[in-house]
Amino acid sequence: MTTKRITHWIAGQEWTGTAERRGDIHDPATGRVSGYVDFASIAEVDQAVGAAARAFRDWREASVARRTTVLFAFRELLNARKDELAALIVTEHGKVHSDALGEVARGLEVVEYACGIPQLVKGGFTEQASTGVDVYSIRQPLGPVAVISPFNFPAMVPMWFFPIAIAAGNTVVVKPSEKDPSAANYLAGLWKEAGLPDGVFNVVHGDKVAVDRLLEHPDIKSVSFVGSTPIARYVYETGTRNGKRVQALGGAKNHMLVLPDADLDLAADAAVNAGFGAAGERCMAVSVLVAVDPIGDELVEKIKQRMARLTVGPGCAPESEMGPLVTGVHRDKVTSYLDSGVTDGATLAVDGRKHPVTGDDTADGFWLGPTLFDDVKPGMSVYNDEIFGPVLSVVRVASYEEGVELINANPYGNGTALFTNDGGAARRFQREIEVGMVGINVPIPVPVAYYSFGGWKASLFGDSHAYGPDGVHFFTRGKAVTQRWLDPSHGGINLGFPTNA
Ligand code: NAD
Repeated sequence: MTTKRITHWIAGQEWTGTAERRGDIHDPATGRVSGYVDFASIAEVDQAVGAAARAFRDWREASVARRTTVLFAFRELLNARKDELAALIVTEHGKVHSDALGEVARGLEVVEYACGIPQLVKGGFTEQASTGVDVYSIRQPLGPVAVISPFNFPAMVPMWFFPIAIAAGNTVVVKPSEKDPSAANYLAGLWKEAGLPDGVFNVVHGDKVAVDRLLEHPDIKSVSFVGSTPIARYVYETGTRNGKRVQALGGAKNHMLVLPDADLDLAADAAVNAGFGAAGERCMAVSVLVAVDPIGDELVEKIKQRMARLTVGPGCAPESEMGPLVTGVHRDKVTSYLDSGVTDGATLAVDGRKHPVTGDDTADGFWLGPTLFDDVKPGMSVYNDEIFGPVLSVVRVASYEEGVELINANPYGNGTALFTNDGGAARRFQREIEVGMVGINVPIPVPVAYYSFGGWKASLFGDSHAYGPDGVHFFTRGKAVTQRWLDPSHGGINLGFPTNA
């Protein structure tokens, strides 16, 4: 069997050196090693940043029209090749093909948004702000920027950032997850084909060594990070200490609150889709279902029926609805919660270890079927921890107020959803809930590209959300110009502070 090698992409080509360290890439459905990825040392990161810094000199001078032309070409290529990219994601992440296609589609949306950059970076102009004086604002690129991404969306998450960064005139160094590194290189190839000048888009692979170098490199002007909360906090603190602009998106524990008047079939469908899609490895997955009395028993029953029908199998098989977890280590960690949940007193209503796995050659894959815990309470590890797997916890509450109190007390605040037919309750919920993204009868409320994506509390460090208007703001800096053209009547000495005369 051939072993693939994934290496850095610097200044428009693959790096040709020999890495001191590397990591295995697995096919999660078979459990076999399919290749390896080079880990960057400080020297390789410096090469990539150097390429980005050199490319910035010309790219910032490229006209908005020229940049937009490249963006449109990239959009066309990505759209034409989305199936190929999705297939690549399946072999390293494990998610099912249709879901991988969905991730590419959500990234594509951001590319399309970035195609509108001429409109997005337009400044303001005030004529005659003072007599004979005009004031206007412009937004300019930052320079080389870093994007550090997690394993769970190897194409979409980098695309939350780099299309806007590049469209705005920055150059980029992406550090993808070492678990599924190929998508970033595939995207690099598309950029080259689209006509992006070499060095504007670079990829370095690796681990903490690469991340730390990006965080301290003086030429890196901003860092966009997505990953777990402890690393997000670390990246935010280290990056800002080094004077960089940082947006660091962290982990989540997303609650779905179901009121007694809700359509319970719709709610059960939503809970299963949002709890077990991508094997629960989504930052917007629903991991806690909050059932307001008296609907708990009926809702749990409906969810159990749906879970039993789920087809778990390799992501490349068209009949599979849920794939494996990303690594054996992660699968074992997620599975350990099935024991700790029982020890803590929760009811293991559906044990995912017993769920059948379809397909050939799956004996050593990283499998865990959909799992349901009932009677979960705050304080139990299944409630407190972000499990990031196909484990859904049901918490029973007596009232809407108790449900909102529970959600607001949780340290995370990424996404949440309310299921109800009561418009007044929905309006109250979206006002009272302390969470960054809210769904009303929508279980995974990922905002479309022209809004911005971001959580509150431990789910995001920094004040900029990803993409949309926040993304444009993050990847540009503002300048206000006050101008006056020669007019003898304004001469003379005046040491006072300028006023609007
Ligand atoms: P992770 O934090 O382990 O890794 C994220 C990135 O940080 C990777 O590129 C990794 O190489 C790097 N990294 C890991 N350890 C590091 C260290 N000690 N120092 C510096 N860099 C380090 O996250 P993951 O397991 O790849 O992804 C899953 C997590 O990401 C979950 O917590 C999930 O909720 C979160 N996530 C959040 C969002 C969001 O929008 N808030 C979106 C997707 C994923």
